Amino acid sequence: CYLIIFFIISHLVMSIIGNLHLKPYEVLSQLYIETSLIISADSDDATLATSTDFGKLVQEIPAAVLYPSSTDDIVKLVNFSNNGVSVPFGIAARGHGHSVRGQAMAPNGVVVVMNFLNNNNNINGIRVSWDPILGFGYADVGGEQLWVDVLHATLEYGLAPVSWTDYLYLSVGGTLSNAGISGQTFRYGPQINNVLEMDVITGKGEFMTCSKHTDSELFFAVLGGLGQFGIITRARIVLEKAPTTVKWVRVLYADFSKFTSDQEQLISIDGMDYVEGSLMMNQSPPNNWRSSFFSHSNQSKILSLISKYGIIYCLEMVKYYDDHTANTVDEELHKMMKGLNFLSGHIFKKETTFVDFLNRVKAGEIKLQSKGLWDVPHPWLNLFVPKSSIMGFNDGVFVDIILRQNKTTGPILVWDDRMSVVIPEEETFYCVGLLHSCGFKDCESLDVQNEEILNYCGKSDLKIKQYLPHYRTKEAWKNHFGKKWEVFEQRKSQFDPKMILSPGQKIFN
Ligand code: FAD
Repeated sequence: CYLIIFFIISHLVMSIIGNLHLKPYEVLSQLYIETSLIISADSDDATLATSTDFGKLVQEIPAAVLYPSSTDDIVKLVNFSNNGVSVPFGIAARGHGHSVRGQAMAPNGVVVVMNFLNNNNNINGIRVSWDPILGFGYADVGGEQLWVDVLHATLEYGLAPVSWTDYLYLSVGGTLSNAGISGQTFRYGPQINNVLEMDVITGKGEFMTCSKHTDSELFFAVLGGLGQFGIITRARIVLEKAPTTVKWVRVLYADFSKFTSDQEQLISIDGMDYVEGSLMMNQSPPNNWRSSFFSHSNQSKILSLISKYGIIYCLEMVKYYDDHTANTVDEELHKMMKGLNFLSGHIFKKETTFVDFLNRVKAGEIKLQSKGLWDVPHPWLNLFVPKSSIMGFNDGVFVDIILRQNKTTGPILVWDDRMSVVIPEEETFYCVGLLHSCGFKDCESLDVQNEEILNYCGKSDLKIKQYLPHYRTKEAWKNHFGKKWEVFEQRKSQFDPKMILSPGQKIFN
């Protein structure tokens, strides 16, 4: 820390000698003097740690890292970029750094390590309340909080959020900047649909509380806004009574049209709590890091199906229950599954706790960590595919590109969805996640495959949209937003006119 301060002061003289376009270290020296923020510019440590992410595909080194001890520190930083320097510098909130293409990076700017608010400032934390008039609970949660911590804190009151991601070690601010989707989305909408109010620091450095009714433009801009309009420091999340236990069922298909029509059937009835699908191929075996569901003998049975059909489609559904509903849950599940067209005899069941179900990916992470296979590159591609294109997508992508090229190295998820982020113009659509991982040297071919998939979707006019989007040109971004681009651009000039926030998304910078 002393070394860092010495470095900064030694360069202060240079910035005073009248260089208007300040270099990063000169910006830092002023920043330090004028705001007294605790920043780090130690290139071997803090800046390197925030120059990479889960994807391990991009590295962009910030000029400095801010460890905020309060939301005021972030306000000071944003104000300084707006007014304290001739050329504003980029600022990226870093939730848990689980983006895959540098979205939480700030090349030559400042990365704000949101997690530090949690270490230093319990004012944000997680507070659970019950609204007796509205008859439901809510949690006020710091933007830096991880969903796993939100789960444990709310369960102490017998409550829990209703909409989740598959993996819980993601920050509230990070998923609300995208959408936050999983097998509950068809029922409750994405996580961004379950927020009542937020505190946000805009790109102009204003601290604002917004909701559907107050400063609603900011509220809607920030939800799914890719970090472009403000930094979320608090979100009020809807809670419902939490179940204790779940019935977890998987059924298998060789026929894609039966698999999709059963999936559409399940989301159209009232009652299932979670519906998600996945693909199994030789390179993507029955058990994977997303969950170890199948017993050893069932895995052998499934592997022989895979070698017979090439691809097997797995539909996964869950019904929650507790002591009050334990007597009726089996009958209800049976009713909901009536008429499903899966391969005879290929139904697999499990019971587990609500917490273990929601936190199912963690065990896979620990296993991969122990083998050194977690911190590897992840050239993921997530797509929303309209219902009318899903058969074409199966033929052209799953069967032709992926099966033919023998190249997928991770699970593939498929689930229906209805939501309001940038989505296809159809009421029902699927989210397909191609969750690849690879060695540090052999990622290129997966990226080539991703390009091939996108080209195929474009040429065949499948009208897909990327989720967790990543583009290299402004034209491509405009095309992604389509009709929403004008509003997106107008909101940027309203809330972040100097284009300071989340430069790693590369939309305006
Ligand atoms: P970061 O990567 O740190 O940030 C993402 C973006 O949000 C950046 O632009 C950043 O500047 C901005 N940001 C971060 N915090 C804030 C804030 N407080 N205010 C404003 N902007 C902010 N997504 C799903 O929807 N469903 C899933 O099931 C799912 N599973 C995943 C599993 C794994 C293993 C991984 C690695 C990712 C998964 N994701 C999933 C994707 C994930 O939701 C996004 O990558 C998300 O952005 C990661 O959250 P984070 O906290 O790490 O965000």
